[in-house]
Amino acid sequence: MTGAVQALIYALTRVLAFLLAGLLLGLLLGHITAGLLLALGCGLGWQLVNLYGLDGWLRARNRRAPPDLSGLWGEVVTNVVRLHRRKRFHKQRMLTVFRELRHSTAAMPDGVVVLNDNYEILWFNRMATRLLNLRRKVDVGLRITNLVRDPRFVRYLEAGDFHTSLEVPQATRDGLSLSFQLVPYGKQQCLMLVRDVSRQVALESMRQDFVANASHELRSPLTVITGYLETLVLDPQMDPALLGPLDEMRRQSDRMNQIVRDLLELSRLDAVTDEADFNPVDVPGLLRTLCGDLAVRPNTATVQLQLQSDAGLLGTETELHSVFANLLDNAAKYTPADGRITVIWSADSDGDAQLCVADTGPGIAAEHLPRLTERFYRVDAGRARSAGGTGLGLAIVKHALEHHGARLLIESQEGVGSRFICHFPVRRVLPDSLEGSIDTTTPAVAAGT
Ligand code: ADP
Repeated sequence: MTGAVQALIYALTRVLAFLLAGLLLGLLLGHITAGLLLALGCGLGWQLVNLYGLDGWLRARNRRAPPDLSGLWGEVVTNVVRLHRRKRFHKQRMLTVFRELRHSTAAMPDGVVVLNDNYEILWFNRMATRLLNLRRKVDVGLRITNLVRDPRFVRYLEAGDFHTSLEVPQATRDGLSLSFQLVPYGKQQCLMLVRDVSRQVALESMRQDFVANASHELRSPLTVITGYLETLVLDPQMDPALLGPLDEMRRQSDRMNQIVRDLLELSRLDAVTDEADFNPVDVPGLLRTLCGDLAVRPNTATVQLQLQSDAGLLGTETELHSVFANLLDNAAKYTPADGRITVIWSADSDGDAQLCVADTGPGIAAEHLPRLTERFYRVDAGRARSAGGTGLGLAIVKHALEHHGARLLIESQEGVGSRFICHFPVRRVLPDSLEGSIDTTTPAVAAGT
């Protein structure tokens, strides 16, 4: 029998005892109804006293011991005590978990800031206070861009693409370089991880300086060597037996010159932290010239230029020239003379523009594609070297495009050919100057062997 049933039986027995006592009293007095009413009144009074005691205890539960009640009231008190104990246990456990969480986030070497969907600060840990100079209480509720005002960070938030982190050199007043990574979670909330990357940035900058200085220092002696070699090769009194080796030396020194030029160009692009300029660049004109130059090269595949748009670009002309020239040069280097190179300049309906350089060359195996833009990465080192490649061309292309907020897509199939696509966002596109006068498929240049 459960405690509750026992208590019920006990309570019923007590009511019956009251009624019996009332009946006996009524018989004694000769007034049964009055006796019963008196007994019920006493029973009710007793319940009220118990209820009053219970209420008093509930109000001061933490200070007073539970009342010693029997029957159903005793059951109620036992249940309340049990509920209270369980609640206290869960509260204690929650507090422990919360305290541990706070300690672990405080001990984290990274700054953590919780933001709402409007990028307003909800919470931050101790490291965030140190890295971003946040102040507890004062800064909670403020928009993060009011406190981290670097334009690169503001652009990162606006773009909303949080797949990669953002590195901001010299982000704070005390010269710290920070890396920011946003992780959206839950109901439109965002976790912002902030890391001090000053050491990595300093090392990277040292590496860049070293490469730039070494390349710069190599340039002058190389120019002298190349000059002498050219003179020696052209000297009519030169021993014919030496002409072969001298010619090879001259080709190798030309290659070294090209490597130094590419390294210097990469160093220059590395050093630029701001976006490229927004100068108007006549892309159709540039492509016509480049394709024209390519077409007159000996042993080059047939080149076809399709200008499907008259749009220009807003950017830095030298960098865009370098991007287009590198892609066309690669297509020419790796496509056999009986192949075809197609260059297509077009604009999407949403205003973006793209340049596609397609060739019918040997193609590239899928496993190489993700690494093609790494410095000195070559699919076939021997073939690339004999074609005069430095392994730096696509790294320059990628950097220069990133500088313009553009992307490089590479599609290729072994034995079929490759397509290198530069995708420019609408803000970099200069709309058609001569609307309606678009020459759709301009076989502007057709050249070959
Ligand atoms: P390189 O100066 O050696 O051409 P790049 O950085 O321009 O260096 O290219 C990297 C590698 O990508 C090349 O060595 C080559 O193996 C491969 N590659 C680039 N363009 C093409 C292409 N159009 N067709 C086939 N392979 C290519």
